[in-house]
Order: sequence, then structure tokens, then C-alpha cells
Amino acid sequence: QAKKDGRGVSRFYQQQMDLWIKRRLELENGLRDSLYNDELQVYFQPIVEFKSGEIIGAEALLRWNSNEFGSVSPEEFIPVAEESGLIVQIGDFVMKKAFEQFVRWKKESKGSESLQKIAINISVRQFNRGDFIANIKKLIDSSMIAPENVELEIVESIVIDDVKIAKEKMEELRTLGIKLSIDDFGTGYSSLSYLKQLPFTTLKIDKSFVKDINIDAEDDELIETILNIAKRFNLEVVAEGVETYEQALFLAEKDCEFFQGYYCSKAVNGEAFIDLLNNRETCVPTIKKD
Ligand code: C2E
Ligand code: MG
Ligand code: MG
Ligand code: MG
Repeated sequence: QAKKDGRGVSRFYQQQMDLWIKRRLELENGLRDSLYNDELQVYFQPIVEFKSGEIIGAEALLRWNSNEFGSVSPEEFIPVAEESGLIVQIGDFVMKKAFEQFVRWKKESKGSESLQKIAINISVRQFNRGDFIANIKKLIDSSMIAPENVELEIVESIVIDDVKIAKEKMEELRTLGIKLSIDDFGTGYSSLSYLKQLPFTTLKIDKSFVKDINIDAEDDELIETILNIAKRFNLEVVAEGVETYEQALFLAEKDCEFFQGYYCSKAVNGEAFIDLLNNRETCVPTIKKD
């Protein structure tokens, strides 16, 4: 009897596994074609300064609207892109589109004076390539964006492999004028020792902490601690995932400088972003510190 049950269970897992592998392969093939089918789009989420309410930057976020699968979440397809190596090509696509878009906003849109940076998410797989920096230089040159307007968002796992190499690369990027932010701060580990050694310019507080503001006292304290750490290391701070007035108020009162989140806007396409730049009040939190 036990043996029979065991087989039943393992058959169940086998089926789930087969389904998962099938989906994974289909996504990988779909993703491989997506670059040629015009299915990928770069969207932009505003980064807002609390003090002025101005949009000071944009984070490029990739969207995949597949003919075959419909809209697929980055949470699902980015890992597939990473594991298959497609992230290298896709990452280049994102940078090219985002840099060109940023330059066009600056040139053509009156509301763009406040805009200082375009933030790009970088995967470990991209960062670890030998030609990573040469490639970024090339993309920066051909789009004619100033390197000072470029910020690369990286997660802690990038440095876990080899801190020394990561550090050298990051220093070279900083020498070029490129800014570096640590994304999803607080979700990884040994963050503090990395912060001390590595030339980050910006710290992004993960949205999981912001979610529980005013709900979980421990998270409130954690955010205050992170803000103090950032100050201590001289880093700009961006809070992610700010959805409510209460969250925005809490962060502004604790001297957090910048935020992203649905409270201002989700990620939108390049055209719609111009409307956000031109209609500033949509992004001004009604928070004024005295
Ligand atoms: P991330 O870099 O931490 O980006 C922030 C995520 O939070 C985005 O999800 C954004 O849409 C979402 N978000 C923004 N505001 C709010 C809010 O107020 N509430 C909630 N609940 N969510 C909010 P998205 O676009 O689904 O991207 C997920 C992740 O996929 C990103 O996390 C990033 O790690 C990765 N990703 C997206 N685009 C790229 C890309 O071009 N290259 C690479 N390597 N990774 C990317
Ligand atoms: Mg990011
Ligand atoms: Mg993040
Ligand atoms: Mg994330």
C-alpha cells in the first residue's frame, strides 16, 4: 500500500515537473523570437523627489507582450532570460532603447529639466561578462547619453561570486561617471560589508519593507535603520513600492529623499512618461516638510 502511494505521489510530482519544464522551454523559445517579433517593450517608472515632487529619473522596466502567451511578468521571464543567456542580448536591447528614449525626452520635452537619470536593471549574467564595460561604453556613445545620467541597478548576488572583481568593475564604471545602485536592499545578505567596500551611489529599499509601513512596527524600525545606514555611507535612498499616502508620508518624515511606486505611477511607455513629466501635479505627493 505504502509503495503504491509513493508511486502516486512521485507520478504527481513528475507531471508537475514535466509541465514546468515544458512551460520553461516554451518561454525560452518565445523569448528568443521576441526580439525579432517586436514583442518586447521598455517601460519607465518615475523616480520622484519627495521635497520637490519632481520626477528626477526613470527606471527602465521590460515588458513582454507575447503573441503566444499574452503578457508575461518579468518575475517569470527574466529568470528564463538569465538561465538561457538571452539576457545578454535582451539587456543590450533595454539599454539601447532606454538611453535613446532618455536623450529624446531631454531634447524634445519641456518637462524634462528635472530629469537626471535613467536606471537600468543589470543581471549577474550580464555584469559578469568580460566585455560588459566595453559594451556599455559603446551603447552610451552611440546613444549620446551622458554617462552621468546612467545608473545601473545591481543586486547583491552580483558580488557574492568574487568581491574583488566586482569591486574593480564597479570602480571602472564609476570612473566613467556611471552611477550604481544596490537594488532590493535588505533582501539579500551581508549587505553591510558590501556597502562598505563597494562604490555604490544609491540604495533602493525593497518594496517588501515599504508594504508594511504603519502595520508592522519592526518594519518601520528596519526602514529607519536602513535610512541611517544610507546616510552613514553617503548614499542616496530610493524607496520602492510606495503605494499609499501614509507610506509616502512616513518616508518623507524620516528624510527619505526619493521614491518609486504606484502612489505616483506604475511603469508606462515613453510617450505616456512625457505626460507625467508635463503634468507634474500627478506626481507631487501632498507632503510638505516644514
Ligand atoms: P525591480 O528592479 O526591483 O523593479 C521594481 C518592481 O516593482 C517592478 O516590477 C515594478 O513594476 C514594481 N513596482 C513598482 N512600483 C510598485 C508598487 O507601488 N507596488 C508594487 N507592488 N510593485 C511596484 P516588474 O516591472 O514586474 O519587474 C520585476 C523585476 O524584474 C524587477 O525588479 C527587476 O529585477 C526585473 N527586471 C525588470 N526589467 C528588467 C530588465 O530590463 N533587466 C533585468 N535584468 N531585470 C529586469
Ligand atoms: Mg530595479
Ligand atoms: Mg527593486
Ligand atoms: Mg526586484
